[in-house]
Amino acid sequence: MDMAGLLGQSLFMPHDHHSHDDPHALLPSDPALRVKALETLLTKKGLIDPAALDEIIDTYENKIGPRNGARVVARAWSDPKFHAALMEDATAVVADLGFYGRQGEHMMAVENTDTVHNIVVCTLCSCYPWPLLGIPPGWYKSDAYRARVVREPRKVLADFGVTLPEETAVRVWDSTAEMRYLVIPKRPEGTEDLDEEALMALVSRDSMIGTGLAGGS
Ligand code: FE
Repeated sequence: MDMAGLLGQSLFMPHDHHSHDDPHALLPSDPALRVKALETLLTKKGLIDPAALDEIIDTYENKIGPRNGARVVARAWSDPKFHAALMEDATAVVADLGFYGRQGEHMMAVENTDTVHNIVVCTLCSCYPWPLLGIPPGWYKSDAYRARVVREPRKVLADFGVTLPEETAVRVWDSTAEMRYLVIPKRPEGTEDLDEEALMALVSRDSMIGTGLAGGS
């Protein structure tokens, strides 16, 4: 069975923020409950092993998904021409690498510098650049993150263990069905000699959402 497809359809039904008054109008009344019911039924029938399911979700959240984004970031750090093209038109550059598809149709790269730190949210639901980062972590979809990151981004960053200098402005980007954002974190100091593969290892998922920094926390 195509587990990614199943998860995609049952948990993260896409929608258009701007053509419906209620962004959740297309969702079943309680999708989480329905998924749980399905999981329980499939487990009882011996068709799935819940531990294996957890592992699949973990893989998509933390391992497979974010590697695509990490490759884009590592290349932007190492190749000035690629960097310029990415900042100019991320959608085209990322599609050229084969990273496109549902929830990744329109991409914009936003770069962290000494003066600005970017952080991404979807205040209405959970829009997220799937082709680059995989499926979103649970906290990204939580009411708390979605509400607080706009109101008190520095406090949210502190919860993630990130403290920025006072002079660094924090800019919050609200994702929609039309536009998804990839944060290009600051390249860590002392990494001038690293090649693209080695640089990729420094790029965490959270650093590309803006709730982390490259090369640690
Ligand atoms: Fe959304």
